Amino acid sequence: MSAVRKTPRILVVEDEQSIARPFAEALRRAGFEPLLTGTAHGALRLAESTSPDLVMLDLALPDGDGRDVCRDLRRRSDVPIVMLTARGTETDKIVGLELGADDYVVKPFSAAEVISRIRAVLRRSAPVEAAPRGPLRAAGGLELDPAARTVVLAGHDLDLSRKEFDLLAELMRHRGEVVTREDLMSRVWDTNWFGSTKTLDVHIGWLRRKLGDDAAEPTYIETVRGVGFRFVAPEGEEP
Ligand code: CA
Repeated sequence: MSAVRKTPRILVVEDEQSIARPFAEALRRAGFEPLLTGTAHGALRLAESTSPDLVMLDLALPDGDGRDVCRDLRRRSDVPIVMLTARGTETDKIVGLELGADDYVVKPFSAAEVISRIRAVLRRSAPVEAAPRGPLRAAGGLELDPAARTVVLAGHDLDLSRKEFDLLAELMRHRGEVVTREDLMSRVWDTNWFGSTKTLDVHIGWLRRKLGDDAAEPTYIETVRGVGFRFVAPEGEEP
């Protein structure tokens, strides 16, 4: 993942000019470099040729479905993706996140609000991680390296999404403590998150599956009913 440029480049994929143009102007005034395209084809081409720092992606494009574009982009890179949509149902929210999108904005939106969310997404995706930290280890050969953003389980690399990684890192950093649902939502998603925390359960479920963990008899992630989650595995040995 590239470091965020001084003038972050935002690829806006939106075919409605009445939305795209004023929004691009607001981005420019806020210190971003907007790039515009109104097609799925243009989105993939520009994402490849310009390496944007973030992609705002409309769900309904004239030549394709934004979800397919999202999937394609995610396959190629870690670029943060914010989905733009007129549909606001819960299912769509989860579907959007399941595709690897980082956030979700329902139209009509206020440029100021979206820009503050773009800033939040860029901050989270920037490889800051504050103090340098060594790998976090746990029994069973689990090793998470915050700097390299890699997770190894019993000698095998685990392919975690960014959210899954951030969740696991957050839980491992607080080994033995309950991390509340609210804290996880605000640290891994956004303090402005307006969806339900069902998204959190969905991601915890995926994470457990990848860890081979059993919610009923957890080795790693215990559910503390009505409160949050706790990382329960003791510290592991250095291999
Ligand atoms: Ca559209």
